[in-house]
Amino acid sequence: MGVMETLTAQDAAERLKHAGLRSTAPRRAVIEALGAGGHFDTAELFEIVQRQLPDTTLQTMYVVLSALTEAVIVRKIEPAGAAAHYEIRVGDNHHHLLCTSCGHIEDVACAVGAAPCLTPSEHHDFDIHAAEVTFLGLCPNCRG
Ligand SMILES: [Zn+2]
Ligand SMILES: [Zn+2]
Repeated sequence: MGVMETLTAQDAAERLKHAGLRSTAPRRAVIEALGAGGHFDTAELFEIVQRQLPDTTLQTMYVVLSALTEAVIVRKIEPAGAAAHYEIRVGDNHHHLLCTSCGHIEDVACAVGAAPCLTPSEHHDFDIHAAEVTFLGLCPNCRG
């Protein structure tokens, strides 16, 4: 497991400022929700943010998540066969384990060394900067 960091509203505001984004309540709430670690889809984040900001709409969530992803404050992962998920862990090119039964997602460190950490059998003259790998399987709960 990686180090769990908790982000306060203050930390969230600073990340937004650093990225040149206006510090709005929904943006801060999403960053705070992701701050404890883990992977959440839009519906899960919507539920968490609505507890704090009942007026938030799903449309606002889409706009906020897209702005935060573009600013590389959050990372969007789109594993095959699962909804898009968001996480606060950006920039380290880590990979994921996805349970094909319950949809649980776990982080996996780079396969070997630094990004892109995997060498494809063909590079077709691409300058490769990242590798996104999703390992599919059954989590301990679903296997049991
Ligand atoms: Zn499972
Ligand atoms: Zn992750």
